[in-house]
Amino acid sequence: MAQLVDAFNRKITYIRISVTDRCNLRCVYCVPSCGTISTLPSNELLQFDEMLRIVKVAAKMGLNKVRITGGEPLVRRGVVEFIAAVNKIDGIKDIAMTTNGVLLKNYAQALKKAGLRRINISLDTFDPKKFQEITKGDCFDRVWEGILEAERVGFDPIKLNVVPSKGSNDNEIVDFAKLTLTKPFQVRFIEFMPVDDWESWKKSFISKAEMMEKIETALGKLEPVINEKDKSAPAKNYRLHGAKGLVGFISAISEHFCDTCNRIRLGADGRIKHCLFSESYIDFREPLRNGCDDAEVERLLCSVMETKPEAHNIDINAESRKYLHSMTQIGG
Ligand code: SAM
Repeated sequence: MAQLVDAFNRKITYIRISVTDRCNLRCVYCVPSCGTISTLPSNELLQFDEMLRIVKVAAKMGLNKVRITGGEPLVRRGVVEFIAAVNKIDGIKDIAMTTNGVLLKNYAQALKKAGLRRINISLDTFDPKKFQEITKGDCFDRVWEGILEAERVGFDPIKLNVVPSKGSNDNEIVDFAKLTLTKPFQVRFIEFMPVDDWESWKKSFISKAEMMEKIETALGKLEPVINEKDKSAPAKNYRLHGAKGLVGFISAISEHFCDTCNRIRLGADGRIKHCLFSESYIDFREPLRNGCDDAEVERLLCSVMETKPEAHNIDINAESRKYLHSMTQIGG
């Protein structure tokens, strides 16, 4: 069987699956500035059995890690059973989820039982009022309870995804880093990526270097921690002296890590995107619905390998502008 190796000799072992394009929040950095996200009619969303077909074939070709994302993955009915089914696929060693945490308190135990290994929860502020401004949802307490419940049922590590933005939550960067002194969490600062307004994105953008400076000025040196287990992991991790947890940075803009990219993204619409920023994709939904066999799924995955670009080329100083057109469909 062919292996998932792209034209630049990168081994692809990881798929991110956006199981829905629906979300129960409307985060300002995710939703376009018009404030609305278009959602697909339900018959155009990939069904779980169709996702499983793709993962089963890909696992025979070297895939070993699946991340469930969205939209908000916990709003899709049947997601726990889907995780249990992914967990049974030969070759899949790791299943993770990225969630906004709103529904996590109710789901954490069931997710753990279904075989979810790791969980990333998005949280951009500790201030309930600012939480509402950023997400348009009045549910900071529910998210925090969800995080504590995930810790209680034994998810380890718990990763918190923070997207810092100037003039919004940049005054909390140090507080987030401070949390790692007392909690064994990995706080991961994700560099803000452009959604649809280039000029305001440029004004709000904070680089990894700026964030590190703020943290080190307030809390002392961040010592690098090398992830020996996963050299393709996008986060570069650090530890504050004596801290229980880690501080990580995903510097997709200022220091992109495309040369170690090991992932592809299956959108809620059944298209595999080559890269978070690329316009190109390969559609799996129609072939699957037309009754294609596993050999055809393998052939389509090989086409993804042949056409995956070398790098995303987003540059804050560049004239050519690229946006994350449909974060809710491709899942970040
Ligand atoms: N609803 C889930 C959540 O909120 O975690 C999963 C989907 S969300 C699109 C996945 C991740 O993408 C989140 O951690 C979010 O913070 C991140 N994200 C969304 N828009 C972003 C942007 N413009 N720049 C950087 N990260 C972004």
